[in-house]
Amino acid sequence: MHTVVIGGGFAGIKTALELSRQQCGRVTLISNRPSFFHHGAVSAAITGGDIAQMAISLDDIFATHSDVKVVHATLTSIDPDRKLAVCGHASYQYDTLVMALGSESDYSGIAGSHEHMFGARNIEQVRRFHDHLHATLVEDHHVERSYVIVGGGETGVELAGALRSYADELAKAHITRRAKVHITLVEAQSRLVPRHSHQASYHVAKRLKALGVDVLLNTRVERVDDEFVTIDKRKLPTETVLWAAGVRNNPFYLKHPQYFEVLSDGRVSVNPYLEAYRDIYVIGDNIDVKDAGRARSALDMAVYIADHLVRNVASRPLYPYRPSASLICIPIGAHWAYAECLGIYVTGKLGSYVHRRAVRRSYLQIMPRAMADMAVASQTTKTRNL
Ligand SMILES: Cc1cc2nc3c(=O)[nH]c(=O)nc-3n(C[C@H](O)[C@H](O)[C@H](O)COP(=O)(O)OP(=O)(O)OC[C@H]3O[C@@H](n4cnc5c(N)ncnc54)[C@H](O)[C@@H]3O)c2cc1C
Repeated sequence: MHTVVIGGGFAGIKTALELSRQQCGRVTLISNRPSFFHHGAVSAAITGGDIAQMAISLDDIFATHSDVKVVHATLTSIDPDRKLAVCGHASYQYDTLVMALGSESDYSGIAGSHEHMFGARNIEQVRRFHDHLHATLVEDHHVERSYVIVGGGETGVELAGALRSYADELAKAHITRRAKVHITLVEAQSRLVPRHSHQASYHVAKRLKALGVDVLLNTRVERVDDEFVTIDKRKLPTETVLWAAGVRNNPFYLKHPQYFEVLSDGRVSVNPYLEAYRDIYVIGDNIDVKDAGRARSALDMAVYIADHLVRNVASRPLYPYRPSASLICIPIGAHWAYAECLGIYVTGKLGSYVHRRAVRRSYLQIMPRAMADMAVASQTTKTRNL
């Protein structure tokens, strides 16, 4: 059996590793990026971590898996009748296709967003913002700086906290005493982290307030220009707007409506076995399943799908996918995180400890221990001189 897996993120890597561990035929992993980048590392990468160390080569991850072939290519179309995954001029014949293409930023038609906003979804965007931050805070000795983060979900609050701590460190080291760094977090809904419990929103808001981050709720960004951002008809001076709000599904599925049913939220509809079309499975952030959109659930789906394919080949009974209870961790600034599972939560240093353990566990799922430890260390050690 030959399984072609598309996407070198959590879901794709874990699927390939599990199929290899269970010796379920040949596997080809196709990804448009040569390395894996943990999104959870974004705030560390932006605020002084070593970005090069955070990108982990797919070739290194699969070095000891001779049954997995890693291909650096972009999936451009599929031909389910001939069972082909097409990447430009090259085609890959599959028995089963597993797709995990991840999601991308959705600027929701905000004027000026493409020219003036920064993003944090891939390594190029992270590097661009990291360099801009250093240039504005270190190389250009202005006494007043204003940074605006759009989106008060998990990513936005984490970035706001990390940015606050980092800006303070840089300001102390490089700028005059009178230096002021304002950080504003803008959220369209009436509370922060609106996907999570009210207690999470309460503790996150309290923490950001203690750090000195200004939070604007029930507020929408309308336009971004070179030197200001327009929020509810008011102009807020800033040269730096970081987008941490909407995401949309990978556009591949919408471009192939003959094979995928795309729901109103943009996600792909799958059957209880995560199959979207004959012998084509879709997993990770791409599908409409409870808890999709988290690394933990991408890993769970990968383990499920490998087991499902092994059962299928062996004509053993098949079971539908069941999401498990997931741990939520929201780190904000140094040594603080909110961690919650099944309604029980902890905050502060204990939350931070739980978060660090969870990050390490997710790395361990997709790489050997030594590599995982290095990846975790690169997130906590600031190698760039302040
Ligand atoms: C800033 C940020 C912070 C986050 N923090 C956390 C966190 O702390 N905890 C948590 O649980 N989750 C977090 N998440 C969410 C988590 O990262 C995702 O849920 C998880 O990465 C989903 O895994 P995936 O494999 O579905 O997609 P991804 O990890 O996004 O991987 C998709 C892969 O597909 C590749 N690809 C895309 N299109 C093609 C194509 N046409 N051809 C070939 N390859 C393609 C991409 O390059 C990528 O390698 C965060 C997300 C972001 C953006």
